[in-house]
Amino acid sequence: MPDPEPGLAAALDDLEARQLRRHRRIAEAGASLPWARIDGRDIRVFCSNDYLGLAHDPRLAEVMARAVRDWGAGAGAAHLVSGHTAEHHALEEALARFTGRQRALLFSTGYMANLGVLSALAGRGDLVVEDRLNHASLIDAARLCGARVRRYRHADADAAAERLDAPARRRLLVTDGLFSMDGDVAPLAALHAAAHANGAWLVVDDAHGLGVLGDSGRGSLEAAGLDTTAAPVLVGTLGKAFGVFGAFVAGSDDLIETLINRARSYIYTTAPPPAVAAAARAALAIASEEGWRRQRLCALVSRFRSGALALGLRLLPSASPIQPILVGTPKAALEASETLFRKGFWVAAIRPPTVPAGTARLRVTLSAAHVDQDVDDLLEALAAADIARAAA
Ligand SMILES: *Cc1c(COP(=O)(O)O)cnc(C)c1O
Repeated sequence: MPDPEPGLAAALDDLEARQLRRHRRIAEAGASLPWARIDGRDIRVFCSNDYLGLAHDPRLAEVMARAVRDWGAGAGAAHLVSGHTAEHHALEEALARFTGRQRALLFSTGYMANLGVLSALAGRGDLVVEDRLNHASLIDAARLCGARVRRYRHADADAAAERLDAPARRRLLVTDGLFSMDGDVAPLAALHAAAHANGAWLVVDDAHGLGVLGDSGRGSLEAAGLDTTAAPVLVGTLGKAFGVFGAFVAGSDDLIETLINRARSYIYTTAPPPAVAAAARAALAIASEEGWRRQRLCALVSRFRSGALALGLRLLPSASPIQPILVGTPKAALEASETLFRKGFWVAAIRPPTVPAGTARLRVTLSAAHVDQDVDDLLEALAAADIARAAA
């Protein structure tokens, strides 16, 4: 019989042979982050984005459960039809206040927010300039919007300025705030200057920075000492530090009205469940009130870094809760991750194409839900695992 799906099995085998095939683990009920239950065994999670330890906060579960009873399970339609409820609207107002912007617009996911922003703001005749290590959703959004795309060397504001210097109707300079695979921050002050000098708009996707960086958790712009006008377009997610689900764009009244009218990933999709919006708003309030969560996180990051450096592990210069350990090949990353898993620690192996070839890594993420002992136990397991060390 002819193969009805020619090529698929062979391509999957090829991925497998190169140690690049992805598999999922199934988490079972009964454990709360930073613990997960896999095959009946409880294991410590060092790969979630639950930086503030809010995803399993019982207060948020209670708010969400109450909102489900009040609003039902689903929104029933897109925002522009009948799906935009008072819960969604209250969350947008809270996000505008939190980010210091005129308005905010809720999207279902960060991926969709980025598609929406770039497709609404750029098209043929426009120029989108991106950091090479930007999140996949920003890269995909730029490709899809039809604008000319130029990429610059990671975190190099001079290279960004040089790329911006090209004929275009509108210029967007687009960057992650805190880079998800390296844990470093964009040189936002220099990028702002480059954008300003070239008549470009700075678009900052602070999916990992919001709630975590800056004295009050306002993210990488606050940490860089910049005011909100430096980046007229700010993208954030609600599924990482805020522990729930969803995403938003914050900016001026005109920006938000433009997105409502032009962003296809906003218009042609069902609004998130109102209960999700209710929980996200509660999470935003808790994150703002409970500054100890950021302080705990900072202390855990320092504890991890000093321990890992003492072991000779190859860390990247990251002061964030994202702490990659470079191991080189996909095989080495997978083996180290498997070894740790057997010892009871869930640390993701990150391989190409998510990161450049030759830089496969273990990506350790820390959470305010961890305690010192969790970090110490992970360090002990890392010491025993066979991981390449830095030359002394
Ligand atoms: C996670 C992430 C996204 C996607 O957000 P989701 O809400 O998970 O779809 C977008 N941008 C960056 C920089 C991210 O890290």
